[in-house]
Amino acid sequence: MGSRKKVHAFVRVRPTDDFAHEMIKYRDDNKTIDIHLKKDTRRGVVNNQQTDWSFKLDRVLHDASQDLVYETVAKDVVSQALNGFNGTIMCYGQTGAGKTYTMTGATENYKHRGILPRALQQVFRMIEERPTHAITVRVSYLEIYNESLFDLLSTLPYVGPSATPMTIVENPQGVFIKGLSVHLTSQEEDAFSLLFEGETNRIIASHTMNKNSSRSHCIFTIYVEARSRTLSDEKYVTSKINLVDLAGSERLGKSRSEGRVLKEATYINKSLSFLEQAIIALGDQKRDHIPFRQCKLTHALKDSLGGNCNMVLVTNIYGEAAQLEETLSSLRFASRMKLVTTEPAINEKYDAERMVKNLEKELALLKQELAIHDSLANRTLVNYDPMDEIQIAEINSQVRRYLEGTLEEIDIINLRQIQEVFNQFRMVLSQQEQEVESTLRRKYTLIDKNDYAAISAVQKAGLVDTDGHLVGEPDGQGFGLGVAPFSIKPGKKSKSKKMFKEQLRPSTPPTKPVAFEDFKNERGSEINRIFKENKSILNERRKRASETTQRINAIKREIDMTKEALNLQKSLREKQGKYENKGLMIIDEEEFLLILKLKDLKKQYRTEHQDLRDLRAEVQYCQHLVDQCRHRLLTEFDIWYNESFFVPEDLQMALKPGGGIRPGMMPLNKIVSLGEDDQDRFGQLQQTTLPEGPDSVSFYNAKVKMEQKHNYVKTMMALQQAHRK
Ligand code: ADP
Ligand code: MG
Repeated sequence: MGSRKKVHAFVRVRPTDDFAHEMIKYRDDNKTIDIHLKKDTRRGVVNNQQTDWSFKLDRVLHDASQDLVYETVAKDVVSQALNGFNGTIMCYGQTGAGKTYTMTGATENYKHRGILPRALQQVFRMIEERPTHAITVRVSYLEIYNESLFDLLSTLPYVGPSATPMTIVENPQGVFIKGLSVHLTSQEEDAFSLLFEGETNRIIASHTMNKNSSRSHCIFTIYVEARSRTLSDEKYVTSKINLVDLAGSERLGKSRSEGRVLKEATYINKSLSFLEQAIIALGDQKRDHIPFRQCKLTHALKDSLGGNCNMVLVTNIYGEAAQLEETLSSLRFASRMKLVTTEPAINEKYDAERMVKNLEKELALLKQELAIHDSLANRTLVNYDPMDEIQIAEINSQVRRYLEGTLEEIDIINLRQIQEVFNQFRMVLSQQEQEVESTLRRKYTLIDKNDYAAISAVQKAGLVDTDGHLVGEPDGQGFGLGVAPFSIKPGKKSKSKKMFKEQLRPSTPPTKPVAFEDFKNERGSEINRIFKENKSILNERRKRASETTQRINAIKREIDMTKEALNLQKSLREKQGKYENKGLMIIDEEEFLLILKLKDLKKQYRTEHQDLRDLRAEVQYCQHLVDQCRHRLLTEFDIWYNESFFVPEDLQMALKPGGGIRPGMMPLNKIVSLGEDDQDRFGQLQQTTLPEGPDSVSFYNAKVKMEQKHNYVKTMMALQQAHRK
């Protein structure tokens, strides 16, 4: 709603034969009460010599039936509660002025029933009128006496007295009273029983506990929760209607009261004045602190006073001259309340479970929508699901190729893919950084340029000159220490080998993209051929899958059209009346043909669908192969590249024909492969252990790779040692 609203303040005058006509006058607007006191009246209120007052309220209810009172005071508040607005109706006034009569009414006389039973009736009537909603109703009945809380419904057999005293608890959903029994009622009758139970307890308590019932505040609360029966509606509303019968507002002469009465009087005066303070503070938009916790009454009503709820005050007054002092006081209270503005707001909540379901539904719908758009744009088979490992590996390899320059551009497919591309960029970049650094660390001892102590130590040792250049290094490029690359290692005077190197190798290795082209034409040609072949199979399968999808869509459209035509025929036939022959339906030829066609289309649809499923499986399989090939191509290229441009010439020599090791792909393979004994062992291993099942394959493969790597390192070390000798 959001619009600000005033507290509605009504005055109800208790009928009397002795109405003070000269003192109490109503104006024609039915809203204004004028009070006039004679000058000689000896009363406290005229100390200031004022003799005339005028109070304008929302309505003066004089000689008003219970019916009219309900219509005027409560009806709107209750109906708004079913829309999710909290509502509070309070009766205020001196003892005997008719608060309980207004709120509860005469429980023995249906006609004179008060706001409470009528509100319950209205709630249940409205529920009946609203079959679109599932509405639950709960009630509780609380009594506050001398700042203690009592459950007026605790006598019900299934409730039982609470072990711990009740406490007022606040949580984000609002205020509730821990220990107060709340009762689900599915029908009017049950609700009435609860009300009567509470009323009886109120009277009994006043005898057994020596409580004066006019000294306590009673709050009957109706809790409403309305959920739409439409499952797609995840919003639901909750509300509370508080019907409050306040303690008598009369100020007890302090001199006359003592003991229990004084205690009661103090509590009541305090709580009523705190109630007023809280409501006034609520109406003041500049106030951000509202003193709710000062007493139990305002604390319990915290989320139902002023603020965001509909609030109504009924001030009950006497019409007799003898009570004029209290009447004036009550009317003052009423007119102060009337100035307070509130801002009713709906208590809207969300059903999390329904919300998730709806979002899922929406997601599925959007995916379908996307699929339609894609097929219109001839982009079938674009997948919007989260990517699997293979797809991510594919993107990783695309990124690598793009960085190496072997891939011109990366096609944009969808958002997820773009994000993944960036992800992989980051990964590749950080990997490369690490690689560069670890390569450097392997070859050199890196010294922090700002670490002067380390630098001077190194200088003392004569390893670097004062400029930080490596000793013997003509154009040193910063600090390097330790094992320099074979090719630039100082002090190695093996001239013949150096010449050999210069003849065979370019001084700077070609860039990887350039080398990769060479590799594909030479050593990697076979694997490259297989890679290309797999790729073309993959593309061909993809194309077929896309065509099949289009055919399926076409068949689906035709099925829909045929169905429609068939339905039309059917309805025509039904309109014309059925032809039956010995219980057999007779249909015309056109309809028959349509049925046949539909059957045929459905068959086609199924076959195509099966085809598509098979194709998709193939696509996935081919994709896997392509990824594998690409991986192999790249790994072997790396080996080749390192071997060709970075393996020391000494090793190259060994790899030369006639050397200990054969050149080309083979030597490295040999280096990394197992010795004959090991090979045998592996064969045995495979035979004996692998029958454990295919799951064990990757485990053993990893083991073998590990051993191969080990072998490779061993061989390299042996070679280096031989070289040193
Ligand atoms: P309160 O609750 O304010 O102390 P009650 O509601 O108990 O006052 O009213 C005191 C008496 O006056 C009761 O017997 C009640 O039936 C009667 N009474 C109060 N208001 C009316 C009314 N509008 N019409 C008829 N009887 C009334
Ligand atoms: Mg009463």
